[in-house]
Amino acid sequence: MTSTTVLGYPRIGPERELKRATEAYWAGRAGEAELLRTGAGLRRDVWTGLRDAGLEQIPSNTFSLYDQVLDTTVLLDAAPARFRHLSGLDAYFAMARGADGIPALEMTKWFDTNYHYLVPELGLDTRPRLAGGGGAKPIAEYREARALGIETRPVLVGPLTYLLLAKPAPDAPEGFRPLDLLDPVVEVYAELLERLAGEGAQWVQLDEPALAADRTDEELEALRRAYDRLAGLTSRPRLMVATYFGEIGAALPALAATRVEAIGLDFVAGPGNLQALASIGGLPRRTLVAGVVDGRNVWRTDLSKSVSTCASLLGLVGEVVVGTSCSLLHVPLDADAEPDLDPGLRARLAFARQKVDEVVLLGRALREGHDVIADADGDVVARPRIDNRVRARLDALGDGSVRPDRSVRFAAQQRALELPPLATTTIGSFPQTAEVRRARADHRAGRIDADAYEKVMRAEIDRVIALQEELGLDVLVHGEPERNDMVQYFAEQLDGYAATVNGWVQSYGTRYVRPPILHGDVSRPEAMTVRWTTYAQSRTRRPVKGMLTGPVTMLAWSFVRDDQPLGETARQVALALRDEIRDLEAAGIGVVQVDEPALRELLPLRRSAHAAYLEWAVGAFRLATCGVADSTQIHTHMCYSEFGEVIGAIGDLDADVASVEAARSHMELVTDLREAGYGSGIGPGVYDIHSPRVPAVEEMEESLRRALQAIAPGRLWVNPDCGLKTRGYPETEAALRNMVEAARRVRDSLSS
Ligand code: GLN
Ligand code: ZN
Repeated sequence: MTSTTVLGYPRIGPERELKRATEAYWAGRAGEAELLRTGAGLRRDVWTGLRDAGLEQIPSNTFSLYDQVLDTTVLLDAAPARFRHLSGLDAYFAMARGADGIPALEMTKWFDTNYHYLVPELGLDTRPRLAGGGGAKPIAEYREARALGIETRPVLVGPLTYLLLAKPAPDAPEGFRPLDLLDPVVEVYAELLERLAGEGAQWVQLDEPALAADRTDEELEALRRAYDRLAGLTSRPRLMVATYFGEIGAALPALAATRVEAIGLDFVAGPGNLQALASIGGLPRRTLVAGVVDGRNVWRTDLSKSVSTCASLLGLVGEVVVGTSCSLLHVPLDADAEPDLDPGLRARLAFARQKVDEVVLLGRALREGHDVIADADGDVVARPRIDNRVRARLDALGDGSVRPDRSVRFAAQQRALELPPLATTTIGSFPQTAEVRRARADHRAGRIDADAYEKVMRAEIDRVIALQEELGLDVLVHGEPERNDMVQYFAEQLDGYAATVNGWVQSYGTRYVRPPILHGDVSRPEAMTVRWTTYAQSRTRRPVKGMLTGPVTMLAWSFVRDDQPLGETARQVALALRDEIRDLEAAGIGVVQVDEPALRELLPLRRSAHAAYLEWAVGAFRLATCGVADSTQIHTHMCYSEFGEVIGAIGDLDADVASVEAARSHMELVTDLREAGYGSGIGPGVYDIHSPRVPAVEEMEESLRRALQAIAPGRLWVNPDCGLKTRGYPETEAALRNMVEAARRVRDSLSS
């Protein structure tokens, strides 16, 4: 027997209905009833759509008004104390977005995806209980589907993953860990399962992606404890524990030792799962949900290969359910909504709808034989475009990635740039005015011609340059008015990349992104930034810093071809950037920044894979940046607070200056970097651009003085912690003025 399922489905709606309804509710333009009605309509469409596509096991409770982890916090009645005077949607959205001075829950990345969840804050005063009782969301949605005549499998964030993603509440006692709440939390799940059984639910899916990362023995023991308890309930639905995003290693025997009826394994991100399953002698009496259709990327499945994976599984387990590797939340909804794409590329794509069809087809192939996929498999042969010139150049370059010693470069750059100690600069973008945004949109839509567009952009550059001169900054930027997004801007100009019109994916809450698709060999038909940067340079005698997005970030925020290792693709992007940097240099630009905010983000979940990742990531950055004269100064920028695990890699990038968001004190950041062997320039962000607050001169002066205890003045840079594009001009001007003044005061005191 075989069956078919998906682990989850996009909930935003084909026309982004959820975003519109939610934002209307926030703005007071629509009431609660209207928002809830939109949600119900979207759920109905998903369920009936999956049923009509022929999918046999349909998930429910994959809908969320904001985030499924937040939903779980609500389900467990585990809101932090500061929200407890609120209820219903007020409490829900206050946790998501903050309200009346109450800060929101922290938001962070869901494993190594671009989805962000709200971090639960648990403490000793967290008293887990089933909020809403019989009306709790998973129960309500199960009933709702039932009323439509559709039997569903409610999906829950598993108790272990939930607790491992949580952090201690600020007032929790020293030493408290969220996992300490395992037993009371599991009791809530137990009650929920009993109630779902009472409603008639046959199966429940518990998501435990935390098992794809390294886990301690203690955590595996907690896993066993939790699922022994849940599987031991006398009245409950059958349990399916879904793991995804990688190989589950030691968690597999732990899970197999419990009496859960089904285990989901990801055979896309975790090819080793097959071997792991074989090595424990299979699961002869269990159901295996075989994640063979990639839930995280946009490519059509190699159906023959998947059929043979499933066929080998048939010999190892009691029953195979063909499924997706993870929830389809991470891919856009419908490739048929992209009529403008090149037909060759279009034929290679499968978004959520097409992936459901693939799952259904694979189920038929397992039952009826291989023939049913023969036709469908035909056009998968469409291969990515190969560019032999790019490949030959990369071969010839080899490593191509060494610059002379940094002290030699430092001296050459001192001579060329004549910068003062504690040089001041910004991270690239300036506030994006309504006028700039309008001009970009008008140009795109053909409402204004290239000349008119050029005029608006040049006027903005003039204004940004004049402002920076007036403020007294040392290294200027052109302000990035022509860019909507730091990845899309370059993707649109590179061959081998394509953009979608409807390919929205939820990043968090109502923020959706449309990642470009890197589908073939990458090359640069012509210079991408030179005319803007040189125009800016023509308006000032001070050095203007060129601004590029690095290879790792270009991959991290795109859907990337999966027919070759990421490292190879990164080298192609790096080569295009290397050419761009050379063109900038030849046009008289002496400083170039290559942003890599995603360096930490792509770090694999398993520690054992870190070194190999960092090797190609660092290699690609160096390939991009090492083709320049000693006197050309390479900057990089990173913005995340927890960069402990990549701190060594920051040095290996071998940039001349790194500006980094400094979450902890600036001194500590500088010290950590130096201790990790970093010897180049450092710009620890001296103020937080994420808030409109204007920091006082004294505050930044103090930060700089502390940083100077660990670094020489000639290597200390003074800058905000990220780009300014989300800020307004008034606070930006005021903050930068104070920042320049702080640098001046510290400089003066050094020379006296
Ligand atoms: N140069 C980019 C900017 O200033 C960097 C953005 C980022 O780090 N995310 O907007
Ligand atoms: Zn940044």
